[in-house]
Amino acid sequence: MSFHDELEEWEKFLDKENCPICNEESPPEDEIIVAEFDKSWLLAYPEVCLKGTCCLALKPHAVEIYDISDSDLMQFMREVKIASKALKEVTKAIKINYEIHGNTIPHLHMHLFPRYVDDPFPDGAIDYNKVEPAVYKDNEFEEFVEELRKKINEYEWPS
Ligand SMILES: [Zn+2]
Repeated sequence: MSFHDELEEWEKFLDKENCPICNEESPPEDEIIVAEFDKSWLLAYPEVCLKGTCCLALKPHAVEIYDISDSDLMQFMREVKIASKALKEVTKAIKINYEIHGNTIPHLHMHLFPRYVDDPFPDGAIDYNKVEPAVYKDNEFEEFVEELRKKINEYEWPS
């Protein structure tokens, strides 16, 4: 679902009181909290289009970048630094892609996509709905989450 087909529903989510993230309403069953930072949570999911795909969900309710206070935004970007650096090291990706959409849930969150030389989207945008065939085999997902946690804990980040 997106605001294109369910505008009324999406508009309800704009208010903090109805926001599914602020109210911790039905996160996907397979969602794993990799790390909790001062201003965000780093989340990972086993069914993704690129190995190592993560999401940083901002803790304060905000929809657009300009809704975030300067100090919160600076801290959030520091957390993006930590998360993306750890992600690049753990996945050995060539490049991390950063995407902010909010067309399904408007509460601000940033997708982190590791890109690889042989990934399935060489010439265009990432199709995040393409989750088949599965990118993780056996317990690769659990191992990835553990490695990412370990790497993040090695860093010291400003609070
Ligand atoms: Zn919210």
